Amino acid sequence: MEKSSNIQVISPNVKYTEDYIYADYEYEETLVTKKDNELLVKPYQTSLCIRTARKVGRLGIMLVGWGGNNGSTFTAAVLANRHQLSWQTKNGKMDPNWYGSITQASTVRLGIDESGKDVYVGMSELLPMVHPDDLVIDGWDISPLNLAESMVRAKVIDYDLQQKLKKEMSAMKPRPAIYDPDFIAANQADRATNLIRGSRYEQYLQVRADIKDCRDRNKLDSVIVLWTANTERLCEVRAGVHDTSDNLERALRNNDTEISPSTIFAMAAVDEGCCYINGSPQNTLVSGVVERAERAGVFVAGDDFKSGQTKLKSVLVDFLVTAGLKPVSIVSYNHLGNNDGKNLSAPKQFRSKEITKSNVVDDMVESNNILYKPGEKPDHVVVIKYVPYVGDSKRAMDEYTSEILLHGTNTLAVHNTCEDSLLATPLILDLALLTELFSRVQLRRDDTEEWQSLHAVLSLVSYLLKAPLVAEGAPVVNALGKQRAAIENMMRACLALRPIHNMQLEHKVY
Ligand code: NAD
Repeated sequence: MEKSSNIQVISPNVKYTEDYIYADYEYEETLVTKKDNELLVKPYQTSLCIRTARKVGRLGIMLVGWGGNNGSTFTAAVLANRHQLSWQTKNGKMDPNWYGSITQASTVRLGIDESGKDVYVGMSELLPMVHPDDLVIDGWDISPLNLAESMVRAKVIDYDLQQKLKKEMSAMKPRPAIYDPDFIAANQADRATNLIRGSRYEQYLQVRADIKDCRDRNKLDSVIVLWTANTERLCEVRAGVHDTSDNLERALRNNDTEISPSTIFAMAAVDEGCCYINGSPQNTLVSGVVERAERAGVFVAGDDFKSGQTKLKSVLVDFLVTAGLKPVSIVSYNHLGNNDGKNLSAPKQFRSKEITKSNVVDDMVESNNILYKPGEKPDHVVVIKYVPYVGDSKRAMDEYTSEILLHGTNTLAVHNTCEDSLLATPLILDLALLTELFSRVQLRRDDTEEWQSLHAVLSLVSYLLKAPLVAEGAPVVNALGKQRAAIENMMRACLALRPIHNMQLEHKVY
């Protein structure tokens, strides 16, 4: 199965075969060394061969927390788009779309036409990618409701569309899941009746069996497991338990109580050869899981979807700091009334969220040593309150105070109201589709080397994540523009196209 693309690169650096797109690519960087008071700057190039497998397999996405607001909204969105269902609202007839998905609803600049005008194409047209209509959806939930019932409970989808989806979604039932009341808020206990019993190791084996079952039944080429279940408290990372793959396995077999349900899901996914994505803030992806993923040659990515307030923050602070203005205080206040908000009203679960929300400006602050002294940071406070009445319609109020010229003050106040799950759903889609795409990309320096996949920690999808996990020692990038450029330029590299430079010299010189 290959999604047809009408893009053909005509270049001596690109070769198309039946199975691959081969690209010879010069990766350019600049080495800066410090000598006394001088910076020595040396541009260099690394020659790479990149190949992208053209055959797009049949992809399954298994959601942990399938019956939640995100899980049911994601399922509804895939089905509404697949069947092109229209529905009536008080504003008239609505048609489905994928707004909010960078792969489906955003464009990338390909080049210029003969008159020097920019030519844009949909991001998903650049390289062969899975089409959302072809996704197989499955998953687990501690709540036994079928997906139609979950959709009604979520109160996100318009009533008329719910009616059109009900029949198909009522046949979808989440598989029993792993519940450990020590990890999610006590206020979730009453929905936890659809459970895998037994020791942690037995639970792990059952999740593996579920993945196998889903793969075989649907004849899938690959499965991605994605956590969109409740936020857990952080696990207390211990040497001898979480640090290596072998220790983790031993601890799992010994039923160690600090191994969280999400880590069990991650281990089972990786051991089944599946990529695992963490859409919530907790520290599921401990070193032992990462080592396991490296060994298995699959990706892990996390943590926590970057959907609303944080996405804007990673644009706004980047703008302020690159404009030479100095943010000194950032205060973010949220209230929401969905089940996520209910779970986050418990202190330990809130703490997980507070941490992922708090570090999101560090790279931007550290990039400017004119504004900030080493170690200096803006005051940054995050508040989340549970207000049942507003349901999924989350309110986010942010105040950014910056120092401007000659110690003047600039205060920006932002008020954002938005259905949370309608922002998160397209991110789930993009995470799955981009992860699948990058799993078909391999690199080598020359033909004496073996082809290598990208690093098991897939930081290329950082754009979609609030607290991006990176390979050990690698810098964390939170600035949204840079994160997007990384995806776009990597996709261009697969076609031996140079990064977008935005210079437009064609129009700036005689
Ligand atoms: P939700 O509470 O509606 O859904 C979570 C689901 O997970 C529930 O159905 C619950 O029964 C289930 N669950 C809990 N523990 C489970 C387990 N161990 N195994 C399987 N299922 C389990 O929440 P939501 O609004 O869908 O959000 C899901 C997650 O995504 C939350 O952790 C949230 O913090 C995170 N997140 C959401 C957004 C967003 O919606 N915009 C943004 C960033 C992160």
